Parts: sequence; C-alpha cells; structure tokens
Amino acid sequence: MYSFGNVAGGQQLDISSSFDVSNPSTGALAGKAPAGSVADLETAIAAAEAAFPAWSALSDAERQQYCMKVADKLEAHLEELAQILTTEQGKPMGGAGSMFEIGGAIAWTRYNASLEVPVEVIQDDENGRIELHRKPIGVVGSITPWNWPVMIAIWHIIPAIRTGNTVVNKPSPFTPLSTLRMIELMNEVLPAGVVNSITGDNEIGAVMSSHDKIGKIVFTGSTPTGQKIMGSAANTLKRLTLELGGNDAGIVLEDADPQAIAADIFWGAFVNNGQTCACLKRLYVPDALYDQVCDALVEFAANVKVGDGFAEGMELGPVQNRMQFDKVNELVRASIEHGGKVLCGGPVDDASTLFFPITLIAAASNDDPLVQQEQFGPALPIIRYSDLDEVIRQANDNPNGLGGSVWTNDKARFADVANRMECGSVWRNKHGAIQPNAPFGGVKCSGVGVEFGQEGLLANTNIQVVYL
Ligand code: NAD
Repeated sequence: MYSFGNVAGGQQLDISSSFDVSNPSTGALAGKAPAGSVADLETAIAAAEAAFPAWSALSDAERQQYCMKVADKLEAHLEELAQILTTEQGKPMGGAGSMFEIGGAIAWTRYNASLEVPVEVIQDDENGRIELHRKPIGVVGSITPWNWPVMIAIWHIIPAIRTGNTVVNKPSPFTPLSTLRMIELMNEVLPAGVVNSITGDNEIGAVMSSHDKIGKIVFTGSTPTGQKIMGSAANTLKRLTLELGGNDAGIVLEDADPQAIAADIFWGAFVNNGQTCACLKRLYVPDALYDQVCDALVEFAANVKVGDGFAEGMELGPVQNRMQFDKVNELVRASIEHGGKVLCGGPVDDASTLFFPITLIAAASNDDPLVQQEQFGPALPIIRYSDLDEVIRQANDNPNGLGGSVWTNDKARFADVANRMECGSVWRNKHGAIQPNAPFGGVKCSGVGVEFGQEGLLANTNIQVVYL
C-alpha cells in the first residue's frame, strides 16, 4: 500500500486526515492520500509565492538546467512511478500504458526544457526600439484529471516553471498517488516552493480557482468543471488554459482500405480504454465500406488483451472508476434503445468489477446518445453515411471541438475535409497522435488556449512591451 504526503515549500505537510485510493483492477486498497484542508492549500500557495521572486530571477539557462534535472530524476524512477500509476489507474505496465506514460512525461520535460523564451524586437529604427518581453505570471494553479495523471501534470508543471512561474498542483482524488510521488521527486532537485502539491476533494480545486494569489489556472478535465473554473476565475481575471472534453469524429472516405486502417482506428478510439480526451469517439463510415470496416474492427478487437495491468501482455485495463463505468454502461444501453446493434461487447449487469468489454455499436442514427455525448470509455459508435457534406455537418454539430480525423489516401481530399472540420487538431489515417512540439487544444466547448510547443510554453507568460 502506498502512502505519500503533500509537499509545500520543500517540506512534507502534516497529515491530519487521509482518504483511500483503490486499485480499479482488484478493488483492493492501492494507498492513502492526504485529505488536504483549505489551510493546507493556503500553506502551499504561500510557499509558491515565497519561492517566486528567486525562481523568476534565475536566467533562462538555469531554469532549463533545473528542468533537465527533473527529467533525469524521473527517468531514474521510471519503473517505480509506472508501478504506482498502474496500481491506482489500472492501465497496463506495457504497451501504451504506464511505462509509456512516464516515458512521455520525461520526453515532454526535456522538450520544454530545450525551448527558448525569446525577446522579440518589434521596432528598431531612428524612432526608437521596442521590445516584447515574456514575463512569468506568478503562482500557477494546476488541476489534473485521472486518465493520464502523470503526463498531464507534467504538461502543466514544466512549461509553467520553465518560464519562471511557481506551481501548486491538485491531482484528481481518483489517482493522486503517482503525482504525489512525482512531486516529491521533483522537490529533490528543485528549490523549495517551486512545485507544491495539495490533494483533497473537488472543493480544493474550487478554492484554487478563485484564490487571489493564483495568477493562472491550467486545468484538464471535464467541460462542466472547466465552466465552473472559468466562472470562479472571473473575479481575479486569472489567465486560463482549459483542456476540456472531446467528442472527436473520425470520417472514413470511400477510397480507404478497411483492413489497412482497422488497427489505427481501433487504437485511436480505445487507447487507455477510451479514457483519453482526444480519442476517436464517433466513427462515420460510407455505405460502400460500412460492413467491411465494422467487420475489420470486430476482428481486431477480438484479439486485444484486457485484464489486470500487472499481468503479462495486457493491452487494456479496467475503467478507472465506478462513476465512469456507469456512464459508459448507460450510454451503451441508451444506444441500443435508440436502435443501435451491438457488434461486440455490450452493456454489463455485473457491478462487481470495473472491466468493461470492448464495445462496438452499429449506431442507428446520428441522434444516438452514444454519438452525441462523450463516453470516455471503451465503447465506439459507428455511423453509416451516404453524403459527405451532410456527414461533415454532423461531425461539426456538437458542442465539442477537440480533435478529428479523416481516413483516406487522397491528400487533397483530406485537406478539403480537414479544413471544414471544427476542431483543434485534425489527423490523416491516425487519431490523437499528439507530440510535444505541436500545439494542442480545443475549440468551442473543448477548451480555451493551447498546450505544447512554443505557443503552449508562452501561454504561461504575460507580455510586457518595453519602449527603450
Ligand atoms: P473532472 O472535471 O471531474 O475533474 C478534473 C479535476 O478537477 C479533478 O482534479 C477534480 O478534483 C477537479 N475539480 C472538480 N470539481 C472542481 C471545481 N468545481 N473546481 C475546480 N476543480 C474541480 O474531470 P475527470 O473526470 O477527472 O476527467 C475526465 C474529463 O477530462 C473528460 O471529459 C475528458 O475529455 C477530459 N480531458 C480532457 C483533456 C484535454 O486535454 N482536453 C485531457 C484529459 C481529459
């Protein structure tokens, strides 16, 4: 059983009460995390505030070196962190699971460390010189979800500290342990107070998002929570980066080869058991290819290994928590009530486990609730279409706009369809393939701002224009 504390100002905070974290594969106790109080949060914010002047005064090169040291430290603990992650999140150790997630976190850290924060010269002539400087905001509050808890915490923390901010992170109460351990490790190489943790219930996140000493909130999670954060951040006019829900459409074009695309469609939809913001969540297939694509996906799904993340060769684990399991189950039932035909998997009556079968559904129409709402789990609706213009309209007729994909070998047709899709990223013949140098974010209700790349880095700064 794991037990970690909150760190503020480089010190472990006293634990007056704690809460249980369970292993979703077994239901056993995975560990205990501190139930941080608002007083603990104040301590963490005060520590971040106290560390800010010295940290922000360091040179860029010094902060780059510190970030590199964080990457080295995490690399030295890669396996340990992966084991904690599998214990509390359920994802397999191998494949696109915990080792992959921690490895990705390290790669993202190194990439952000390597970026420069430029001073831009806007004008330099006989009328004067004007420079655009990037200044850190101050204390950044980071609020993270349970699906990719370590990687997403890194996406928040590293660009923020790289640009001279200090951070207070609040992990999801479903998966706090790996993040707490990671922040302990960061504190072994960073100056005290640069990165602080505060675990606790949702109320802690709500207090953070209205706190007058926090200059920015970076939040990854559901759209309803993002909307609440935006509301409570209004009083202090906080800077916001919100990475919210997605209901990504994939559109297969008539020239695609069903056998050739099946594996990439499957993993685009089911990586991390579908519990990924930018998973393919509704698949539109033309009449001519519909049966072939369905058959190829069913055949592929039959060979995917689902089980305890510590068992050899597993590719998918359980759904992480009961609330999400019930949501997926309800949407699958609703899809059937709307005329959907189960191709494999289907709803579950047994409430004793969090393992949900890989489910593919031939949806009866675009109005199916499994098509309209984000399932965030291992169930994919496949919708038949006959008119491309109409299907692009359907793909866009959704409040979300995170990612999208087009499955075709025709690059010109891809460019045309991609241009007409309302989403922050569009892929050809793959889905959800993010990388640290390409900005990522959603349009419409999928978010505000971007992470990754130079744009994501600079989102942690305020502009100061200097007239020399
Ligand atoms: P969630 O919104 O329930 O919780 C996320 C975090 O917010 C948790 O730490 C939670 O404790 C905290 N929180 C809850 N209420 C709060 C409040 N009122 N104020 C401040 N913080 C509060 O989301 P989740 O269930 O953990 O994650 C699943 C959702 O996240 C899905 O919708 C998914 O699409 C989305 N997501 C988006 C991205 C992206 O990059 N766009 C990435 C991963 C997940």
